[in-house]
Amino acid sequence: MTTRKRSKKVADSARTRTRTRTRARTRDNTGGWIRITIRGAPYERGVSHGKQIIAADHTLFTRMFAAYDFIFRQSYGRDIDFFYGLCDDFYRPIIKRRFPKIFREMEGIAAGAGLEVHQVILINVYMSLPYFYSHLLRYIDTPKYRKKYADVIRDELAIAANPAALSARDARLNEFKDRCSLIMAVGKGWTKDGGIVCGHSSFSNFIDAQFCNVILRIEPEAGDGFAMVMQSMPGGVFSMTDFFVTSAGIMGSETTISRFNAFRLRDPICCRIRECMQYGRTLEDYAERLQKRNSGDYACSWMFGDARGKPRIMRVELGLNYVNIETTRDGIFLGFNSTYDERIRNIECSGALSSQAATNATGSGVIDGDGGGGGSGFRDIATSIGNRRVQLEKLAEKYRGRIDTDVVKSILADHYDNHLGKTAANTRTVCKHGYAAAPFKPVGAYDTKVADSASAKKMSFLAHWGPPCGTPFIVREHMKKHTEWKDWAEYLVDFPRRGWVEV
Ligand SMILES: [Zn+2]
Repeated sequence: MTTRKRSKKVADSARTRTRTRTRARTRDNTGGWIRITIRGAPYERGVSHGKQIIAADHTLFTRMFAAYDFIFRQSYGRDIDFFYGLCDDFYRPIIKRRFPKIFREMEGIAAGAGLEVHQVILINVYMSLPYFYSHLLRYIDTPKYRKKYADVIRDELAIAANPAALSARDARLNEFKDRCSLIMAVGKGWTKDGGIVCGHSSFSNFIDAQFCNVILRIEPEAGDGFAMVMQSMPGGVFSMTDFFVTSAGIMGSETTISRFNAFRLRDPICCRIRECMQYGRTLEDYAERLQKRNSGDYACSWMFGDARGKPRIMRVELGLNYVNIETTRDGIFLGFNSTYDERIRNIECSGALSSQAATNATGSGVIDGDGGGGGSGFRDIATSIGNRRVQLEKLAEKYRGRIDTDVVKSILADHYDNHLGKTAANTRTVCKHGYAAAPFKPVGAYDTKVADSASAKKMSFLAHWGPPCGTPFIVREHMKKHTEWKDWAEYLVDFPRRGWVEV
């Protein structure tokens, strides 16, 4: 009964989307991006953020929460109200106490957009939730929450007692943990002009991906840190897909670490990385802030570049108990959803699932399949991680000493499959086309962003909305061939061919 009612509501909001879309998108969009600039004190800039999103498209938040609700039900079997509750009980107190300015900005966004604060919190911890959820029992099977979460505790204990069920559930949540390809290079030995060059492409299911098309510029009030420009989403206080440049001359990005499964509920990543961007003066500041009260949520291989003076780049492979930090003035770092650090790969990532178990569990396959052992496919070119590592390393050598933003664009659009030994745009390739192979789930690469020292110094970057190679994804055409996904259609939008824009 409840489910039926909710489905109808979601369908209604999806219909509203179709009616209002054209008018809303022609005014504020360039190349598919929604650009907003906010400035001033935390609450004031939050209100401005909320109002500008509503002005750009007054149905955007409604569609976004309907989409999140659908994804939550597909991945967890629980609806969005359950996750709002987790935000209120667990994340609200931490953010309010530890990050009062960020919390004020969130309150402002809620006020400006007519939302509840827990909705804005949910947007910002969306990527932390899969990590938290795997360890949920530790936090709800407690004297304070045992009664409130009695049903959930019952279900989770049953799942925990059944290895097959636990594997199946972990496989579903792991899908949130494999999300992108990344390159960052510096120095005469690697780049054309010796400066920093960085490029990143995000992967996701195309339902939540569609909301990551906000270019957010934040100018805090005088004396409260650096200004920043980032890819973000409606209601975001951080990037989430993670691509940004700041007025300190620092650029940053990351690739998530597949199957990472170490967690301790402390400060969420949205607040830690936001404080890095706003207050980080050096690369070392970033490394330090990321590790402080780290939760292990959204564990990533982070890459930062400092374009000032003699340029330098840093990679932080950020596990929970293990962290690997490297810096160079002449080198290249590659991101493919695993780590070079064997401790993180083999101790903190759960590689116990076979790819078959993952496929059986979801009926859809995870975004990145695993070869079956530990290391999340690091050496297995039959997996997306393995193929992308090998191919990125090959392309880095090929273009060594010549890398510039155009080269990075072409690398991120690469379609070579080392497993098949031929070019084939598929789920394994650097430019990921997850939807092109069984089980044909609408997932894949949906954007590209590139920056270099020159663009970072003027707090700018180049951005492309849609698959890196430009191949369009058209919902109607996909559904014609793959009716097994037809219930996804009302939540999806097309990714037509679009051009590059400078932000
Ligand atoms: Zn492609």
